[in-house]
Amino acid sequence: MALRFYNTLSQRVEEFHPARDNTVRLYTCGPTVYSYAHIGNFRTFTFVDILRRWLRASGFGLDHVMNITDVDDKIIRNAAAEKKTLRDYTAVYTQAFLDDCATLRLEVAEHLVKATDHIGDMADSIARLTAGQHTYTSEGSTYFRIASFPGYGKLSHNDFSGNLAGARVDVDEYEKSDARDFALWKAPKEGEFFWDSALGPGRPGWHIECSVMAIKYLGATLDIHAGGVDLVFPHHENEIAQSESLTGKPFSRFWLHAEFLMVEGQKMAKSLGNYFTLRDLIGRGYKPEVIRYLLASVPYRKSLNFTFDGLQAAQMAIERLRTFKLRLDTENLPEGGNEKMAARTESAAQAFTNSLDDDLNTAEALAAVFEYVRDANTFMDSDRFGAENRPAAQRLFERFDAIFDVLKPSGAIAGADEAEIEALVAEREAARKSRNFARADQIRDQLLSRGIALEDTKSGVRWKRK
Ligand code: AMP
Ligand code: ZN
Repeated sequence: MALRFYNTLSQRVEEFHPARDNTVRLYTCGPTVYSYAHIGNFRTFTFVDILRRWLRASGFGLDHVMNITDVDDKIIRNAAAEKKTLRDYTAVYTQAFLDDCATLRLEVAEHLVKATDHIGDMADSIARLTAGQHTYTSEGSTYFRIASFPGYGKLSHNDFSGNLAGARVDVDEYEKSDARDFALWKAPKEGEFFWDSALGPGRPGWHIECSVMAIKYLGATLDIHAGGVDLVFPHHENEIAQSESLTGKPFSRFWLHAEFLMVEGQKMAKSLGNYFTLRDLIGRGYKPEVIRYLLASVPYRKSLNFTFDGLQAAQMAIERLRTFKLRLDTENLPEGGNEKMAARTESAAQAFTNSLDDDLNTAEALAAVFEYVRDANTFMDSDRFGAENRPAAQRLFERFDAIFDVLKPSGAIAGADEAEIEALVAEREAARKSRNFARADQIRDQLLSRGIALEDTKSGVRWKRK
């Protein structure tokens, strides 16, 4: 079966191929950099990372644009309160976002673009929308007239006919229920920061930045546009209205939306105060790959309930995989290969592929790997896993980790050296657990030769520099 995605636009699961030259033109809405992102935000960005990696594993090239929203009401307000320029204020949170992405092993988009680097492009596009009769001005601001776009509502599947007239909104936080004309260019309030443009002094609205940067870097029609489910309406609906009014072409062939990370029945959100940042969780001792595993483990179209028990379970799941991987790499296996084992590896690899092809069903892909680990352990225990079975099994784990990326331990302490030592210590622990004492001793000697002494204590192994 080929790769399929659920498309919010058609409300159906559709087979996916890029439109041109085997390259996927992908746009995903990025963070608003007014503060640290929370792990709810990172659930959506982790979904995007799994999407990227699976598209690549499926043989496609990637051309991916992600925007950084570095101007909006909150940013202007907070920067003014701290007496900072927008640039200085947002630079801190932009860097924090990039650092957090690296910590979570999230790949960086081919084009990571800032709204404030495209003010001129946005002003030009708004002028073109005006020439096409899609806008009107009021008190120095320019609004998009949604009644001028007949397809309005086609993504969110709302029928707005009859209530498209007149009412407008110019804040950055929108009501879900009603369709309103939205600001493309906002006149500054008293004392507020602004850019000068042919549209008068002001700054762009949030929606126009995505349309303009997507079209600029990827062309009129994207293969995939993705984001969190809260962006379907009005943000993505408005992006479609602007973009298709500008180009006359469909804006995106596929629309993918990730469901929320929840806390006790509610969406994790800054405004509800029920959030954790990545830094909060790492501060509590959770490893980045454990958080990554948890965020990736539930298919993106199902909401995911965040609990500390869930993190514990993720940690145990990773340990189980690492223990098996170590056994697979180091076990003294009988010569030759076992046909049944070879077939089992093949069926696990197939189940892994089928699950991710099925609209990125990560839960099933993980289940396929865990069932395989159970069976492979049984084969090894009874000497039916031969040396010739090893390479195919290792390839399965490579394919698994190219997507999930959780096997390599990251250090509890920052710094490459420490991370490497921690990884070796963990590997030695796992070797001892699986009674592979030769490998455990080998690691101890290797560390000793580099000046690292190990100490076995009741609470586990400690290491120190000699
Ligand atoms: P923002 O920085 O608010 O623009 O949000 C960045 C991304 O995080 C958007 O794609 C949102 O849809 C997404 N998002 C916000 N809250 C959550 C949540 N609780 N779970 C999953 N995704 C979320
Ligand atoms: Zn967007």
